[in-house]
Amino acid sequence: MHQLTLAEIARGLAEKKFSSEELTKTLLARIALLDPQLNSFISLTEDLALQQAKAADARRANGESGALLGAPIAHKDLFCTQGIRTSCGSKMLDNFKAPYDATVVAKLAAAGTVTLGKTNMDEFAMGSANESSYYGPVKNPWNLEHVPGGSSGGSAAAVAARLLPAATGTDTGGSIRQPAALTNLTGLKPTYGRVSRWGMIAYASSLDQGGPMARTAEDCAILLQGMAGFDPNDSTSIDEPVPDYSASLNGSLQGLRIGVPKEYFSAGLDPRIAELIHNSVKELEKLGAVIKEISLPNMQHAIPAYYVIAPAEASSNLSRFDGVRFGHRCENPKDLIDLYKRSRGEGFGPEVQRRIMVGAYALSAGYYDAYYLKAQKIRRLIKNDFMAAFNEVDIILGPTTPNPAWKLGAKNSDPVAAYLEDVYTITANLAGLPGLSMPAGFVDGLPVGVQLLAPYFQEGRLLNVAHQYQLNTDWHTRTPTGF
Ligand code: GLN
Repeated sequence: MHQLTLAEIARGLAEKKFSSEELTKTLLARIALLDPQLNSFISLTEDLALQQAKAADARRANGESGALLGAPIAHKDLFCTQGIRTSCGSKMLDNFKAPYDATVVAKLAAAGTVTLGKTNMDEFAMGSANESSYYGPVKNPWNLEHVPGGSSGGSAAAVAARLLPAATGTDTGGSIRQPAALTNLTGLKPTYGRVSRWGMIAYASSLDQGGPMARTAEDCAILLQGMAGFDPNDSTSIDEPVPDYSASLNGSLQGLRIGVPKEYFSAGLDPRIAELIHNSVKELEKLGAVIKEISLPNMQHAIPAYYVIAPAEASSNLSRFDGVRFGHRCENPKDLIDLYKRSRGEGFGPEVQRRIMVGAYALSAGYYDAYYLKAQKIRRLIKNDFMAAFNEVDIILGPTTPNPAWKLGAKNSDPVAAYLEDVYTITANLAGLPGLSMPAGFVDGLPVGVQLLAPYFQEGRLLNVAHQYQLNTDWHTRTPTGF
C-alpha cells in the first residue's frame, strides 16, 4: 500500500479497496519502523491522523468524493498547525504550539487530507542540506551517508522512502525543487502569490512560497489544487482563478518551445548531470517539443543578490523572536538587553545567526545602497532576462542542481560552498516565477533532477510537460533500496 501515489489512493478509496483508516495505520506503522534511519519527522500526529482518517471515511460513506479526501500527507514544520508544535526546525520554537492553522493546512484539512506529522527542515528554512535543523540532520534514503537536500529535506526523504505519498514544502531559493531533485521526487514551487503564506513562518517574505512535493507530476497537480488560491489574510496573495491542474496534464507537447539557457552549462555543472539533462531534452523532442538555445545573461549575479536579499528580510522577520513575544527565553536574565542577547544566542543556531548578522549589516545605514539596493536592481535585471526569454519560448529547461547529493557534513565548514548549490533554483524566486523539478536519472546511484521554469501562473504548463515526460520515462518510479 505504501507504493501508491495520491492518484492511486484516490481511486482505491473510491473503489472501497481500502479505507483511509487502514491506509493511515499502515503508513504510521511504516514510519515507526523506518523513520529512525532517516529522521524525517520532527513530530508525529497519530491521534489527529486517525481522527481525520475516520472523518474522511465517514464523508466518503456519505457520498462525498474528492482526490484528497482521506489522503495521508505531512506538513513541513513551518506551517502553523493549531495546538501542535510548529518548531521551524529551531530550538527557538521547540515548545511553540501554534494558536491557529496556516491557510494551506486549513485548506488541505477541509479537502479531507490526513496529517501524519510535521517534517524536519533546516532551521528557519535556511540551508540546502537539512543539516541546520535543531532536531538533527535528515538522511537521504538513496544513500544514508548523504544529505537529502534542504530546506524541505524531511518532506523529501519521507516521500522518497514511501513513508507517505506526498507532503508540503516551501521554497525561498530552491527548498522544494532542490531536495526533490536529490531524492528523486517531483516538486513544484508555484508563482509568488499563488499559494497563501498566511501561517507559514517567514524566512524571506518576498521570496517564500509553499508548494507540493510528491513522486509524480500528477500528484503535484492534485496537492497544488488543494493548496492554491486567493487568501485575503496574505497581502501578497493574488486573486487569480485557480485552473484545474489535473485537467491539463494530458495536453500535447507538439510545438512546445523549450529554451535551454547556455549559461546553465558552465564549468560548475557535473558533466554527468549535463548529459542526463541533454537526454531529457531529447526525450521531450521526441514528444514534439522544439528546442532553442537562449541566454540569461545576468544569472551569474543571482547568488550574491539572493544572499543579500534573503538574509536582509530574514534579519527583519526574525526580530520578533526575542524571548518576550515569541520563542525561547533564557534563564534568569540580568536585564532586558541580557534577556534579548541570551535568548537569541541560545535559541538560534549558527547558520541563522550568520544570516541575521549579514542581513542586519546589509540593511544598516551607510551600506544599504551598496548592498541591499544593488541586490534589488540585480533582481530586476534577472526578472527582465526571464521576460525576454519567455517572448521566445514557452518553458525554460536545465539542471535543478549542479551536483548530486553530497555527503553529510561535507559542506559544513564552508557555507559559501553550500550557497553555490542554489545557482539554478534561486533565479525563479528572485523573479517570482513557477518552477518544477522532476527525476531525470542517476549519478553514482544518486538521483538527478531536471528543472522546468514557466511564465507567471503557468503551473499547469509545467505539470503538463512533466506528466508527459513521466508517461514516457520511468525514473520517477524507482524506489530506494531498503524502502
Ligand atoms: N538554500 C537556500 C537558502 O539557504 C534556499 C532555502 C529555501 O528555499 N528555503 O537560503
